[in-house]
Order: sequence, then structure tokens, then C-alpha cells
Amino acid sequence: KKPVIAIDGFSSTGKSSISKIIAEKLGIVHLDTGALYRGITWFALQNCLNEDGTINIEQLFSSFSLIELEFKNDTGELVLFMNHINISKEIRSNEVSNNVSLIAKQKEVRDFLLQSQRNLAEKGGIIMDGRDIGTVVLPNADFKFFLTASIDERTKRRYQELLGLGIEADENQVKENLIERDRIDSEREIAPLKKADDAIVIDNTMLTKKETIESILSHLKK
Ligand code: C5P
Repeated sequence: KKPVIAIDGFSSTGKSSISKIIAEKLGIVHLDTGALYRGITWFALQNCLNEDGTINIEQLFSSFSLIELEFKNDTGELVLFMNHINISKEIRSNEVSNNVSLIAKQKEVRDFLLQSQRNLAEKGGIIMDGRDIGTVVLPNADFKFFLTASIDERTKRRYQELLGLGIEADENQVKENLIERDRIDSEREIAPLKKADDAIVIDNTMLTKKETIESILSHLKK
């Protein structure tokens, strides 16, 4: 049976891009669970706003039945579709990044997404990245990793990623957003961002993407 691998860690430690490459190498599926929380946030920003522009949480909770999230294989890459619209670019916007942790800390939102994440891992052969995969979503995963890196290094990476996507950004604001998201994610009551007791920690501040991948692959061989 192909392995179930959980990758958790702080924002912009390279979890998703690294998981994607490992999935290709092993011939397994990659699921970026952050995209799901971003998708819900994007939906809320479109459809559930108060008059002052803040998100109406109650309205969002009563709208779950209108949200259909689906990962489709678009040109060889799994991309997120919401109600049949490709939202893979929209979910990377600053507006989504600034609101996603407030949405992700809601129990209703996490409950809504939990079972579908577990179902995807039932048959094995998956690498799932997020914040609570090793602790809550897949506590019995075959391998668990926890990625971390210095805040300045993560800021640099995130800033470059946004530039690559053609999204305007200010380095200081990027840094503030990472710090604030990590704080809310770590302090929330339900499924906080936390290393699983049996996870292998990789600090990749001084590692290239390739070196981080090699480190993970070497543990998988053991
Ligand atoms: O991975 P990414 O940075 O795209 O995740 C965006 C946000 O989604 C995180 O800051 C966190 O609030 C939330 N998230 C979560 N649990 C996960 C994955 C992401 O709460 N498993």
C-alpha cells in the first residue's frame, strides 16, 4: 500500500510546493488543505459580507450547502474549483490571506472540511499539507513532518511567490500577515497549529527546496 504522509508547519515554509514534488516522485496524490480554507474565505468575501465590509460568520455557516469545493486535474496539476469555477488564483489574494485564519479557527468551518479530507486518504497514496494534518486529520499517517524556518526567510519566499503570481505586495505587510496568521493558527482552540508528538521536524531556513525534499525522502526510505 502506498504511504499516507502528513506535512504540517508554519506559513511559507514551502509545505505545498515541496509536497507537490514529492507526490510526483512517488506517484501519489497531493492535497493542499490550506486551499480549502482559502476557498471558503473567498466564498465568504464574495457572498457573506456585513455592511461594514467584515465577514458575516453566521451567514457563512448557513451557506455551507451552497459551497461545492472540488480539486480537478487541470493541465497536470490539482487546482481548486468552487461551484465549477477555477479559483486557484483568487485564493492567493492578499484579501484572502488577511482573513483566512479568522475563518479557519471556526469550529463549524473545520467540521465542514474534516471528513472530506479524511476520505481522500482512505485508500493511501497521498501527501497532505496543512496545519493539523498529523495531529487531527490523519493522526495515523505513516509519516509526519513539521516544517519550520526563520520569519525573515519565510517572508522572502512568500514575497517572491506573490511577485511570481503577479500579485502586488509590500514585504513588511507580507511579514506582518505571516506573523499574524501563525499567531491565530497556533492560539486557536480547535486543531491549533502544532507539531505532532511523532512528527519529524525540519528547519529549512538554510536549506534549498531540493535539500528539504531530499531530507524528507531519506526519512521515507527508512
Ligand atoms: O497553507 P496556507 O498558508 O495556504 O493556509 C492558509 C490558512 O488556512 C492558514 O493560515 C490556516 O489559518 C488555515 N489552515 C488550517 N488548517 C490547515 C490548513 C490551513 O487552519 N490544515
